[in-house]
Amino acid sequence: MTTLRNYIGGEWIAPGGVEFLDLTNPATGEPLGKVPLSGNRAVHEAVAAAQGAFVKWRQVPPVVRARYLFKLKYLMEEHFEELAQTVTREHGKTLDESRGSVRRGIENVEHACGIPALMMGKTLEDVASGIDCEYVRQPLGVFAAITPFNFPAMVPCWFWPYAIATGNTFILKPSEQVPFSSTRIVELAIEAGLPAGVLNLVHGGKEAVTAILQHPGIAGVSFVGSSPVAKYVYQEAAKYGKRVQALGGAKNHVIVMPDADMDRAVSNISESLFGCAGQRCLAGSVVVAAGKAYEPFRDKLLDNARSLRLGYGLDPDVTMGPVISAKHKEKVLSYVEAGRKEGATMLLDGRASRVEKHPRGHFIGPTVFDGVQPDMTIGKEEIFGPVASVTHVSNLDEGIEMVRASGFANATSIFTQSGKAAREFRYRVGVSMIGVNIGVAAPMAMFPFGGTKGSFFGDLKAHGGDAIEFYTDKKVVISRW
Ligand code: NAD
Repeated sequence: MTTLRNYIGGEWIAPGGVEFLDLTNPATGEPLGKVPLSGNRAVHEAVAAAQGAFVKWRQVPPVVRARYLFKLKYLMEEHFEELAQTVTREHGKTLDESRGSVRRGIENVEHACGIPALMMGKTLEDVASGIDCEYVRQPLGVFAAITPFNFPAMVPCWFWPYAIATGNTFILKPSEQVPFSSTRIVELAIEAGLPAGVLNLVHGGKEAVTAILQHPGIAGVSFVGSSPVAKYVYQEAAKYGKRVQALGGAKNHVIVMPDADMDRAVSNISESLFGCAGQRCLAGSVVVAAGKAYEPFRDKLLDNARSLRLGYGLDPDVTMGPVISAKHKEKVLSYVEAGRKEGATMLLDGRASRVEKHPRGHFIGPTVFDGVQPDMTIGKEEIFGPVASVTHVSNLDEGIEMVRASGFANATSIFTQSGKAAREFRYRVGVSMIGVNIGVAAPMAMFPFGGTKGSFFGDLKAHGGDAIEFYTDKKVVISRW
């Protein structure tokens, strides 16, 4: 069994005097190792190391900084299957889902390899007679990221590759529930030759987060997690004068129009509802069926949900894994109970689902409610489990109003064959990530990613061009010779 250590200033360090969290495989219950819950001291050491490394790292030419990432990309490809298996072992999603997420992570490393072009400034000759004006982008110092449990390999790669490519140094605090994938990627970054102190890894939970938010030596913080914590991170980091981008939770609606290609829509939406056992910020949660779409959609969705095979993601033919922990299972089941109590109709009950081979796994079978209203707890709060709600509206206008009324605005989708309906939807819906005949409006490295309203706190989003804006200062120089 592994006892994890922090990676600070080029050394693997066991933090002293801290508690350790025991981690188990969420599908099999087998022990995976222990992670330290580091505190103030480890964060202070990491900041000192990152500040020390920044002096030289920012002078390394961008083309040379990019070469470390090219090397890392090559190493991540070489270890692709191992990384995907690590994700499945610690998180529980199926191997195919893990592969998809590792691929998306690598795409961010690839995109950051383009930093010499991405971070160029601009010049205007003769801004006044004989005077030239230019801006250059400069790194700001030390940045940190705090990441969630549901994408152990991908989400950290939304941040640190761009931050170090632009010449900053970095502290990564991964979720204490899934620290193994980040540890392995940091090992690969070391193998790629990244100089000591450029990328530091600090394991921990709330205490480490607070130390990061309050440390005067950190210029900015990227956060992904639940909305209450995102809001706290946004406010606390801003209070300490930092740049901050905080991506929060979600309650994603999917509209199905009567003219949708129903078979395709059902398989796509089912994947969105139940993929990763519903533990995705982009997961569909409430399906809003318009007019005559309702009955055929509901019936086909039930057939599809019943055909899912629950189990350990490394076992063949499994199509849905467990949720992350016993505690999280309890939370999801409490939402199911709230749905029953508040009058929704349960069409499929996954509470008693078991996987014979893995009696200690945190499994919940696909669960479907009908007649869910926006004011019900399961109609408005994020469940983050394999629990789908179906609701019926008369037309597109009603559907759009329902989406707009949500306190969250991370992602939403429409299934239709009408360009006019799709255009109307994207124009009015007020949500940041939109799928048209796509169940999961997935993050693409070269585009910005993040929500609005209760799903996002900040202005510059993750990756795409926004990452370059977030991690650099635009310095304007005006000259006369
Ligand atoms: P979480 O908010 O519990 O934890 C996220 C991070 O914050 C972890 O690193 C954790 O150690 C830290 N943390 C937890 N509680 C804290 C506290 N009270 N004070 C300070 N730090 C704290 O989130 P999670 O359960 O790990 O992840 C699931 C959530 O993340 C869901 O709400 C999901 O929608 C969201 N998410 C959002 C996106 C997005 O792009 N918007 C992507 C992935 C996940």
